[in-house]
Amino acid sequence: MIRTCCFATLIRILAFWTYAHFKSQGWRLRPRVSSHSPPFLNSSIAGQGMERSQVINFGAGPSVLPQNVLEEAARGLLNYKGTGIGITEISHRGKEFQQLTNDLASQVRTLLEIPSTHEILFTQGGGTGQFSAVVLNLLARYYLLNPNTQPGDICIDYVVTGSWSKKASEEARRLAPGVKQNIAADARKFSKDGKSFDNIPPHESFTFSPPEKTAFVYYCENETVDGVQFSVDPESPTSFPYSKIGNNINPPLVADYSSSFLSRPIPNLAAHALIYAGAQKNVGPAGLTIIIVRKDVIVDVDAARLLGAVATPVTMSYKALADHNSTYNTPPMFPMYVSHLVLDGILNNGGLQKLGETNRSKQEKLYRAIAALEEDGIANLNVKAGSRSWMNVTFTFNNPELEKKFLDGADEQGLKSLKGHRYEFVFPCEVFC
Ligand code: PMP
Repeated sequence: MIRTCCFATLIRILAFWTYAHFKSQGWRLRPRVSSHSPPFLNSSIAGQGMERSQVINFGAGPSVLPQNVLEEAARGLLNYKGTGIGITEISHRGKEFQQLTNDLASQVRTLLEIPSTHEILFTQGGGTGQFSAVVLNLLARYYLLNPNTQPGDICIDYVVTGSWSKKASEEARRLAPGVKQNIAADARKFSKDGKSFDNIPPHESFTFSPPEKTAFVYYCENETVDGVQFSVDPESPTSFPYSKIGNNINPPLVADYSSSFLSRPIPNLAAHALIYAGAQKNVGPAGLTIIIVRKDVIVDVDAARLLGAVATPVTMSYKALADHNSTYNTPPMFPMYVSHLVLDGILNNGGLQKLGETNRSKQEKLYRAIAALEEDGIANLNVKAGSRSWMNVTFTFNNPELEKKFLDGADEQGLKSLKGHRYEFVFPCEVFC
């Protein structure tokens, strides 16, 4: 009885918040299919499958997009801003698309209060593309600043708090074989079983390489799969230990914000040399990667090659992107257009401060509901208090039958994609952002 009641409460909370969020954002949960809407906006053919309005999609990314954005995007696919040409058909070098690129950059700048020291670039290749681009561009920068360097004299520091930062560190090992990789902190050492990612390590355990020998320091702000996130509160022991790193310029600090981008303000943004995010979690369709890069990191990768750096593919060169207003080659035009519409919605609904507060209160309620299941011996939260993600809430049921019951109950209510991992439920609050 208690179990059924707890499940029902959790499911009700999930369903209600989703509705309440979209309502508070002025974004409709139900599709607006009126006599003025083109017939293709009907999300299913009568009698075949689910209606969009019957489903709440918790997919961690690609994630749900607001209904009114999709409707507007559908119109733009046919006719972009009265040009008579669809957004995927216009030239990326034409004035309309250049304007869209500038508008999108200025929306990102406004929302995150990005200082003029940093540029905003758009590219393809996703978060994984940036695992490689970061290494190539930042090693090139190091060679330009230290012309007589041998690879064995260079350090690159990775903070490993989950699967994504681990993957990024492996890519760096592949691309920079002679360079010394230092794992500046390893969360597994502080976990319950010595091998899981369930915490942000204590500040005193972070050991960075000497600043003058370090090409960059890398961390992932929100570990999507593991549900581990650095605290936004600078006083918290699980915040990122910025004060332990060099002088704000060297070594350059790099952060993967793929799964928390635009869910709340970024603390200490100016202390970062580079922040990147794939769009598909919170911002728009997959295909777009957003890069916020300090100007001194935009370097001539070919000049660095003459000094010993490995060649950087031109599509990964931040300088090639910056010199061509993100249109060195054809950018992901449709994802950029949809992202522009999503950001319009965030700006018109109180910006990131408000969104951050909404997300804070939602995750608090959700963790409270799961903690009640924990007290009843039904489920366990995977991540230690203080390190828990606002975006991806991971917990395990103690019994496979209960897991099935929960998933079936959620499914009946139209709550989809709750099971994000073989052993864990990943509740991506991205759907609310
Ligand atoms: N970093 C993080 C934190 C992610 O969540 C993901 C994708 N889930 C990636 C990187 C990889 O992104 P992509 O699939 O766009 O390459």
